[in-house]
Amino acid sequence: MKNIFFISILTLLSCSENKLGLEKNKTHNFGIVIHGGAGTILKENMSDEMELQYRNALKTAIKVGHEILKNGGTSQLAVEKSINILEDSPLFNSGKGAVLNSYGFAELDASFMNGKSLKAGAVSGARKIKNPISAAIKVMENSPHVMLSGNGADQFAEQQGLEIVNSDYFITKRRKRNLEKVKLREVNAKKISNKLNYDEFYKSQLFGTVGCVALDKHGNLAAGTSTGGMTNKKWNRIGDAPIIGAGTYANNLTCAVSSTGWGEFFIRTVAAFNISALMEYKNLKIEDASSLVINDKIGKLGGNGGVIAIDNKGNVAMEMNTPGMYRAHMNSEGKLLVKIYKDE
Ligand code: ASP
Repeated sequence: MKNIFFISILTLLSCSENKLGLEKNKTHNFGIVIHGGAGTILKENMSDEMELQYRNALKTAIKVGHEILKNGGTSQLAVEKSINILEDSPLFNSGKGAVLNSYGFAELDASFMNGKSLKAGAVSGARKIKNPISAAIKVMENSPHVMLSGNGADQFAEQQGLEIVNSDYFITKRRKRNLEKVKLREVNAKKISNKLNYDEFYKSQLFGTVGCVALDKHGNLAAGTSTGGMTNKKWNRIGDAPIIGAGTYANNLTCAVSSTGWGEFFIRTVAAFNISALMEYKNLKIEDASSLVINDKIGKLGGNGGVIAIDNKGNVAMEMNTPGMYRAHMNSEGKLLVKIYKDE
């Protein structure tokens, strides 16, 4: 009798062990997408060398996040670390190499959202934080707030032990030349008409914000966006990038989104949240929801830009209504796509 009892207990244990083992090994499809900004990016304006530099930078950044996901790390960490690489690269409009405001220095915006907890953090108008996306994550994790701005954001980041740099760190020769060019255009435009046509002015800007969305093996989504905003911006202008729902959104029920482009339009259309809402309430596929927001909502209002998005199954969208968007995607199998021009 006793023996039968022990045998049944052992069988039961080994069955549940198997079950546990199976569950342990059962992993979710994962994937990661990054962007380095959308805009008038044309093959004829790009040297082979420049193109290669962009493709290599995108490749390096996405591989860092992919490695984290492959090893079972969180989408939050993958998003942060991939964006850190892009922030440190002078090629993109975020961190080092961010565009300069009208007064000649960088004001940085960034935001992050965790699709599992629906918690979010953001900084805007920061001037000293080397990696603003990391500060956005600290706001989410270690403050009772969602968005901090200006000096307060810088101070908070310093208190959190993040790297603080002198404002000269962000400035590159290329961005100084850009600012001079844009200021000259502004002076000339004012000479022709008293009222500056901001529409024409901003439409032709090259953007260059960076962003990342990821789905990890645990089925959790995350999104982040980091930028210097727009060249020659004035009056502490804040774009869409630090605004949850406009520049960044993530929800495990639907998708994770990061936007880039003419920020005012992404704010007015609540672009990132709109994509998630179309999926949640209307059952749209990620490609259809992204296309609807970029082409039908933003495009029809006269705005331009693009989004990257990944859903909770690993399907992705990289949608734009500009001639190009620096972008890359890696899936669970490690298949890598790096693209620049729209029709690539
Ligand atoms: N969306 C950003 C902003 O308006 C600019 C960009 O994407 O490059 O600040």
